[in-house]
Amino acid sequence: MINELLLFLDDSPTPFHATNNLAALLEAAGFTHWSGEQDDGRYYETRNDSSIIAWQSAARAPNQGFRMVGAHTDSPCLHVKPNGVIKKHGYLQLGVEVYGAVLQHPWFDRDLALAGRISGPGKKGQIASELINIQRPLGMIPSLAIHLNREANKKNVVNAQEHLPVLLARDDDQESVADILLQLIDTKLSKVSDFELSFYDHQSSSLAGLSQSFITSARLDNLLSCFLGASALTSSKPEQPAILVCTDHEEVGSASTSGAAGTFLASTLRHLTGDQNTSDAIMQKSMLVSADNAHALHPNYPNKHDENHGPIINAGPVIKINANQRYASNSETSAAFRAICAKANVPVQTFVTRADMACGSTIGPITATKLGVPTVDVGIPQLAMHSIRETAGVKDCEYMLKALIAFYNS
Ligand code: ZN
Repeated sequence: MINELLLFLDDSPTPFHATNNLAALLEAAGFTHWSGEQDDGRYYETRNDSSIIAWQSAARAPNQGFRMVGAHTDSPCLHVKPNGVIKKHGYLQLGVEVYGAVLQHPWFDRDLALAGRISGPGKKGQIASELINIQRPLGMIPSLAIHLNREANKKNVVNAQEHLPVLLARDDDQESVADILLQLIDTKLSKVSDFELSFYDHQSSSLAGLSQSFITSARLDNLLSCFLGASALTSSKPEQPAILVCTDHEEVGSASTSGAAGTFLASTLRHLTGDQNTSDAIMQKSMLVSADNAHALHPNYPNKHDENHGPIINAGPVIKINANQRYASNSETSAAFRAICAKANVPVQTFVTRADMACGSTIGPITATKLGVPTVDVGIPQLAMHSIRETAGVKDCEYMLKALIAFYNS
């Protein structure tokens, strides 16, 4: 399972690729693209090529409710600007827009590759899109030498507009991003008129540490939960009404056609259960496990955690609590998740933020608010959240998979 996870992480540099790869995983387990069936089969539906919902045994849901797992397909990164080409001082660079809360320093001095979606008129003039992935070190953001910034280790402020443009070449003939792309890719589009492209770390994920018990990779938040959710669903009993929902745009608030604050899940539920009243009633019999990584205690910065709530890597999934409803867990859903884990022999940790620090959020409260579904926010502990390279634990992935399978089958 861990090697498949690493491949999934490496092959999913953008939410588009993640969605595509999740669909492939599901299809390998007998799920098919939904065309309106309301039976007990296994199906999936996508939206904007960047979000996916998969389900099974929907026809039984009015009696049993759904067991639901939710996660997000997006991660903080640097997006290429539409008129991205910058030619100055003899260099060719691409200007970028910061997507989500990027931890910016780690993006310097990395080999950066480029991937995403391109759109434009196809052969017959209709607008079409393609996914592209240029899997080679295409550019870099070199640091400023310490000799030119003696204060670099004390204060090193990154100005995203001035300091993050990605260096591609010495000055060159290319005048537009499309010019650059056409040199690198084959496309059936007659013209690349628009694109959503982001840079990513060319280095693949690794099993790291003395006993290879850590996973280091980009996008662990939250492709890890997407992969574990899909693996759990495909391993669950097909007769159990169950849903996996992986949506885009969580890192920027989830408000979009494909985000958790949009209509995707609610309208899919309405279509596959028949009507709004049935769908509402089913939600009261259902439960959502919102899976998104949690902050592990950092041994070099222990004071950043409450001393009784510092999750440790490879010590099990974390239940996330926040009285101000930044997490949707309540005592009933937490107790239910804890009981499922106990039965599956999976240890559980608890996270609540320091009382003097602000708390992040997830798709949990958003989905709970929109659907009224009882929800628990959980996640495996990780370090370096939102860095270009994050760290999590192998054992935690195994624990979480066991817990999610047990939840789906409960
Ligand atoms: Zn996340």
